[in-house]
Parts: sequence; C-alpha cells; structure tokens
Amino acid sequence: MKIDILTLFPEMFETFQTSSILGRAVENELVSIQTHNIRDFALNKHKQADDYPYGGGAGMVMMPQPLSDCISHVLSSYPEEKPKVIYLSPQGKVLTQELAQQFSMESSLVLLCGHYEGIDQRVIDKYVDMEISIGDYILTGGELPAMVLVDCVTRLIPGVLGSSESILEESHSAGLLEYPQYTRPAVYDGQEVPPVLLSGNHKEIENWRRQQSLLNTLRKRPDLLDKGALSKDDSL
Ligand code: SAM
Repeated sequence: MKIDILTLFPEMFETFQTSSILGRAVENELVSIQTHNIRDFALNKHKQADDYPYGGGAGMVMMPQPLSDCISHVLSSYPEEKPKVIYLSPQGKVLTQELAQQFSMESSLVLLCGHYEGIDQRVIDKYVDMEISIGDYILTGGELPAMVLVDCVTRLIPGVLGSSESILEESHSAGLLEYPQYTRPAVYDGQEVPPVLLSGNHKEIENWRRQQSLLNTLRKRPDLLDKGALSKDDSL
C-alpha cells in the first residue's frame, strides 16, 4: 500500500515510519509512506500557508492555494486509479476497527493533516472523499490522527504482522475485547498464571479464553455486547 501524507510538519513522521512493526513493513516494501510539506507549495514569498478567517474569530485557517497545489501534485502521481483522499478531522466519522479493515484493502491512501483552526472548506469540497476523526476531542493537528490511522491500517495488511491469527482474536476484531494475556514466569511476585494456560489442553484453553473475553467485555465495554457478538454457546 502507498500512503501519501500532506502536512505542515513532515518531521513528525520521521521516527514513526522507521520504528517498530511499521518500520519493518516499510523495509519489507509492504507499505510505502511519503510525506509532502504543504508549505513547499506556498507561492507567496514568506511561504505562508495560513491566514485569518473570513468573518473574524480566533486562530488561523490553512489557505486553499498551497493545499490544493499539494493535493494536485500528489494526485498527478496516480495516472490511473485515484486514491481515496482522507481529511483527518474532529468532524469526521469516528475511526473503528471495521473502517481500518476497509482502508487496509485499498492500494493507496492520501491523508490530509489540518492545523490551527483547520483548512479552507473549499479544499474539502473539491478534493476530500472522507473525513475521519480519531475521537470526540480536539487535537492541535491532524498528524497524530494520521499516525493512528496508518498504524491501525498497516498492521492489517497481510504479511505485516508475524501471525495473522493474532489479528483475528484481538479486541474489536470480532466485536469483543480480548482475553487476559500472560507470559513467563508462571509465578511472579506471588501471582500465578491461571493453571488452564499451563495445561496444554487446547480445547480448554480456547473455552477459557472465550469466557474471559466475554467477561472482559461485560465489565469494561458492555455496550459492545449489544452489537450481536455473542454466539448461542456463550454463557457467563
Ligand atoms: N476548528 C476545528 C473544529 O472545531 O472542527 C478544529 C481544528 S483542530 C484544532 C486542527 C486540526 O487538527 C484539524 O484540522 C484536524 O486535522 C486535526 N484534528 C484535531 N482533532 C482531531 C480529531 N479528533 N480527529 C482527527 N483530526 C483531528
């Protein structure tokens, strides 16, 4: 997958795209990330990319010209199928695992990061296919939301994670939260790992995990149980 990120702060993505699982995915060419500095497209002599809002009010708005030229430049590198242009915005549809699954099927994405009071509406009207929020709160800019989106989408691309099974059992993948996880040692600070996990009995481990997954969801996110993730064999 190719991901273009349009931002006023490309340096924020440097460590992000070379670290951890994403860094490995980039190295293995499963995903390529290219940042574009919107300011490089500003035509005025001070490379200004924001201006005062019409109608007055606090803060600055990102100007249409540098943004439009930056988007056009990026889109011109896709002569065939135009990628989805996503504006990270607190006004957008809230990102979920289901949306991340859908995005992971795309061959390319263009992510637009706003800053200050946001971007000129005419750019949204002309170029943006979808607005995505990472939650009902306000951040300074769209860079962290873009990183959140890239992280949760790329780990769903086949081959990015070591085992595709871990994706299937994770919280939110099948509508429930995951069961508790333990690693060595079997006794730590007087606390024991549940004996069933040491039993080697795969069927019992599977049943225990399903039960714990249901309990976890009931305790922490009962709202998820309403969404039909239960099977007829489930009991608590
Ligand atoms: N004035 C805007 C409003 O009230 O809708 C908020 C602007 S916010 C301070 C600046 C930028 O941060 C936005 O253009 C957007 O790109 C990004 N942003 C802030 N919160 C976000 C969120 N929850 N999800 C996605 N992007 C967000």
